[in-house]
Amino acid sequence: MSKACICKPSEIMLFACSGGGSNVGQIANNAALEITKEGKAKMYCLAGLGGHVPGIIEAAKQAKKIIVIDGCPVLCAKKMVEHVGLKVDELIVITDENIEKTPGVFDIKNEDIEKIKNLIEIKINRAVEEAPEKG
Ligand code: SF4
Repeated sequence: MSKACICKPSEIMLFACSGGGSNVGQIANNAALEITKEGKAKMYCLAGLGGHVPGIIEAAKQAKKIIVIDGCPVLCAKKMVEHVGLKVDELIVITDENIEKTPGVFDIKNEDIEKIKNLIEIKINRAVEEAPEKG
Protein backbone atom coordinates (compact mmCIF):
# COMPACT_ATOMS: atom_id res chain seq x y z
CA MET A 1 0.00 0.00 0.00
CA SER A 2 1.17 3.51 -0.77
CA LYS A 3 2.67 5.50 2.07
CA ALA A 4 0.92 8.63 0.77
CA CYS A 5 -1.40 9.85 3.49
CA ILE A 6 -5.05 10.32 2.79
CA CYS A 7 -5.69 12.24 5.99
CA LYS A 8 -8.22 14.99 5.51
CA PRO A 9 -8.51 17.75 8.11
CA SER A 10 -11.69 16.16 9.45
CA GLU A 11 -9.78 12.92 10.02
CA ILE A 12 -7.15 14.57 12.21
CA MET A 13 -8.72 15.06 15.63
CA LEU A 14 -7.53 17.50 18.27
CA PHE A 15 -8.21 16.90 21.94
CA ALA A 16 -7.32 19.88 24.14
CA CYS A 17 -7.35 19.55 27.93
CA SER A 18 -9.21 22.90 28.05
CA GLY A 19 -8.43 23.11 31.76
CA GLY A 20 -10.38 25.79 33.57
CA GLY A 21 -7.96 26.40 36.42
CA SER A 22 -5.00 27.87 34.59
CA ASN A 23 -3.82 29.85 31.61
CA VAL A 24 -2.27 26.85 29.88
CA GLY A 25 -5.52 24.87 29.74
CA GLN A 26 -7.19 27.76 27.96
CA ILE A 27 -4.23 28.33 25.66
CA ALA A 28 -4.68 24.67 24.64
CA ASN A 29 -8.38 25.27 24.07
CA ASN A 30 -7.92 28.47 22.07
CA ALA A 31 -5.16 27.06 19.88
CA ALA A 32 -7.21 23.94 19.04
CA LEU A 33 -10.28 26.06 18.39
CA GLU A 34 -8.46 28.38 15.99
CA ILE A 35 -6.87 25.51 14.07
CA THR A 36 -10.36 24.03 13.72
CA LYS A 37 -11.78 27.36 12.55
CA GLU A 38 -9.04 27.50 9.92
CA GLY A 39 -10.13 24.07 8.66
CA LYS A 40 -6.79 22.37 9.31
CA ALA A 41 -8.02 19.70 11.74
CA LYS A 42 -11.05 18.98 13.88
CA MET A 43 -11.30 19.72 17.58
CA TYR A 44 -13.38 17.09 19.31
CA CYS A 45 -15.14 16.35 22.61
CA LEU A 46 -12.72 15.34 25.32
CA ALA A 47 -15.45 15.41 27.96
CA GLY A 48 -17.46 12.97 25.87
CA LEU A 49 -14.63 10.48 26.14
CA GLY A 50 -14.53 10.94 29.89
CA GLY A 51 -18.29 10.55 30.01
CA HIS A 52 -18.08 7.30 28.04
CA VAL A 53 -20.54 8.63 25.48
CA PRO A 54 -20.68 5.79 22.93
CA GLY A 55 -21.26 7.96 19.85
CA ILE A 56 -18.37 10.23 20.70
CA ILE A 57 -16.01 7.34 21.36
CA GLU A 58 -17.04 5.70 18.10
CA ALA A 59 -16.48 8.94 16.19
CA ALA A 60 -13.07 9.35 17.78
CA LYS A 61 -12.14 5.83 16.70
CA GLN A 62 -12.61 6.94 13.10
CA ALA A 63 -9.82 9.50 13.40
CA LYS A 64 -6.72 8.70 11.36
CA LYS A 65 -4.54 10.76 13.70
CA ILE A 66 -5.13 12.02 17.21
CA ILE A 67 -3.25 15.07 18.41
CA VAL A 68 -3.51 15.89 22.12
CA ILE A 69 -2.77 19.32 23.57
CA ASP A 70 -2.26 19.28 27.32
CA GLY A 71 -1.57 22.35 29.37
CA CYS A 72 0.83 20.80 31.84
CA PRO A 73 2.53 17.53 32.83
CA VAL A 74 -0.59 16.28 34.62
CA LEU A 75 -1.59 15.20 31.08
CA CYS A 76 -5.34 15.07 31.67
CA ALA A 77 -6.27 14.92 27.98
CA LYS A 78 -3.70 12.26 27.13
CA LYS A 79 -4.94 10.12 30.02
CA MET A 80 -8.56 10.56 28.97
CA VAL A 81 -7.86 9.56 25.36
CA GLU A 82 -5.88 6.52 26.48
CA HIS A 83 -8.49 5.62 29.09
CA VAL A 84 -10.95 4.76 26.33
CA GLY A 85 -8.36 2.71 24.47
CA LEU A 86 -7.37 5.23 21.82
CA LYS A 87 -3.80 5.95 20.77
CA VAL A 88 -2.26 9.39 21.06
CA ASP A 89 -0.27 9.94 17.87
CA GLU A 90 1.13 13.35 18.75
CA LEU A 91 1.33 15.12 22.11
CA ILE A 92 1.96 18.79 22.90
CA VAL A 93 2.52 19.85 26.51
CA ILE A 94 2.31 23.61 26.74
CA THR A 95 4.54 24.02 29.81
CA ASP A 96 7.29 22.23 27.84
CA GLU A 97 7.24 25.16 25.41
CA ASN A 98 8.54 27.82 27.78
CA ILE A 99 5.05 28.95 28.74
CA GLU A 100 4.59 29.16 32.48
CA LYS A 101 1.45 27.80 34.12
CA THR A 102 -0.32 30.45 36.13
CA PRO A 103 -3.58 30.21 38.06
CA GLY A 104 -6.67 31.74 36.50
CA VAL A 105 -7.80 31.58 32.92
CA PHE A 106 -7.33 35.20 31.91
CA ASP A 107 -3.55 35.30 31.62
CA ILE A 108 -3.60 34.28 27.98
CA LYS A 109 -1.28 35.92 25.49
CA ASN A 110 -1.94 35.86 21.76
CA GLU A 111 1.72 35.10 21.15
CA ASP A 112 1.41 31.95 23.27
CA ILE A 113 -1.67 30.82 21.36
CA GLU A 114 0.20 31.43 18.10
CA LYS A 115 3.17 29.45 19.33
CA ILE A 116 0.98 26.44 20.16
CA LYS A 117 -0.94 26.79 16.90
CA ASN A 118 2.36 26.61 15.01
CA LEU A 119 3.29 23.45 16.88
CA ILE A 120 -0.09 21.88 16.13
CA GLU A 121 0.43 22.70 12.45
CA ILE A 122 3.81 20.95 12.50
CA LYS A 123 2.12 17.86 13.98
CA ILE A 124 -0.66 18.08 11.40
CA ASN A 125 1.85 18.30 8.56
CA ARG A 126 3.64 15.27 9.95
CA ALA A 127 0.33 13.40 10.08
CA VAL A 128 -0.47 14.36 6.52
CA GLU A 129 2.92 13.16 5.30
CA GLU A 130 2.70 9.81 7.07
CA ALA A 131 0.53 6.90 6.11
CA PRO A 132 -2.51 6.60 8.35
CA GLU A 133 -1.92 3.34 10.15
CA LYS A 134 -4.70 3.41 12.69
CA GLY A 135 -6.78 0.36 13.14
S1 SF4 B 1 -3.34 18.97 31.82
FE1 SF4 B 1 -2.87 20.53 33.39
S2 SF4 B 1 -3.84 22.42 32.59
FE2 SF4 B 1 -4.77 20.70 31.49
S3 SF4 B 1 -6.64 20.19 32.67
FE3 SF4 B 1 -4.95 18.86 33.42
S4 SF4 B 1 -4.11 19.98 35.21
FE4 SF4 B 1 -5.33 21.45 34.00
